[in-house]
Amino acid sequence: MKGLHILWQEDYKPGDQAPEGYLAWHEWAEVQHKAGLRQKQCGRCGLWRYPQQLSATIDRAELTGMRKRKPTRVTVETPVCNACNKTPNVRAKRGQTAPQE
Ligand SMILES: [Zn+2]
Repeated sequence: MKGLHILWQEDYKPGDQAPEGYLAWHEWAEVQHKAGLRQKQCGRCGLWRYPQQLSATIDRAELTGMRKRKPTRVTVETPVCNACNKTPNVRAKRGQTAPQE
């Protein structure tokens, strides 16, 4: 059984963009995972993305609540993936969100 090589296996590197195709994607995802990259959930589409698939945009939402009769304020930051960043945020209306940068 010498000389058996798996030829279809692509050589993905950590940080590579996701390939097309189901099998290729799983090969790629395994490389990313072994490299220590972990997925984060996009706050807009809800899909899990590796860091290189996330844009520089971060959605910030301020949550307020009451704790021991005191108002608490927590800022929740959710990453936005490249795909969602390209499409206009339909939820954002003029005057409701702080300008970027
Ligand atoms: Zn997304």
